[in-house]
Amino acid sequence: MGNTSCYPVATGCNQFWDMGLRPSGPQLALRVCIKPNVSQLSIGARLTGFDVDDEIAILKLELAAGFDTLDWRMIPQLSHSEGNQAMSATSRRPPPDWLIQETPRTGFQKRHNWRATALACDPNNPERLVETVCLVQAAKEPSDRIASTYSDNLKDAWNTASYANRFNLHVTQQHGKADTNPLIAVQVCIPVVCEVIASTTPHWLAAGDFVTVCAYPQQEVQKFIFDGNEPFQDVPQAFFHYAAATSGGKDIVWDLQGCREQNSGTYLLVDPVVRRRPPATVRNLFFATVGNERGLGKVSPNPKQIDLLHPKCTRLCETFDPERLAAYGKGAGFACFQ
Ligand SMILES: [Zn+2]
Repeated sequence: MGNTSCYPVATGCNQFWDMGLRPSGPQLALRVCIKPNVSQLSIGARLTGFDVDDEIAILKLELAAGFDTLDWRMIPQLSHSEGNQAMSATSRRPPPDWLIQETPRTGFQKRHNWRATALACDPNNPERLVETVCLVQAAKEPSDRIASTYSDNLKDAWNTASYANRFNLHVTQQHGKADTNPLIAVQVCIPVVCEVIASTTPHWLAAGDFVTVCAYPQQEVQKFIFDGNEPFQDVPQAFFHYAAATSGGKDIVWDLQGCREQNSGTYLLVDPVVRRRPPATVRNLFFATVGNERGLGKVSPNPKQIDLLHPKCTRLCETFDPERLAAYGKGAGFACFQ
């Protein structure tokens, strides 16, 4: 887990939110119901350490201004005149139209994003409690706070972490390091899904609601790959290209956001999106070839769109796709879909 501190507890961990450890008491009690389908050995995943049926006390839940960027992809499209206004890297802005058209969950799933202090059993020592700073996310609409709401978020985090694992191994190999001491350039926060089992703030979250929890210790979420207005940073740019290239242009990891950790230099990503190329059905092929001419069927990102997000290659890109072709699905052995 990330920044942690330990609390010795003589009586064990069950029901610890009733024990009055803090004068104000915890705000929420959660129970983990879905844990990630990710190997503990993955060096692309940042896990919470929580297991199914673990119980977590949320001591403090706060809205963090630095998390506003997490909502940018849910912002409705601006009108034409608003869209023409100059935008800085930090200004609030909507996602590119072509990216959200085929990514339904960016359109409906408005969420709350809280910074939380969680207290749970140390997985390595059940006699101790460990405090962890987390990101708690919940659908804004109470009726959407069911476990299945978050399934796309989980799958995209798992998938991005799988690319990050291979990317880190590639970076390690390029630096001539042994696998036993790998370089971790990129890691993805992997959430668990939890059910609220008790709440002192039912106006925010009530018992029976489902939320996600991941170990994200920072106070801000910075955009690395979103709409092309981000400051160019070599590692996230190379990672974006790596995922596109190694999937033959099939998967685009998008909305890469998070922080760069000061001590390790690792880019810690949170809540990414994987935009998948649709299967090669007759309908999709028709719209890919005919629809795009009319501006209708934007079923697959074209090279111009990839170039917008990844305007130039880094030195690292040259080690896996020197001709910049595999990212577009045009590499040797990859099916061309354009
Ligand atoms: Zn590149």
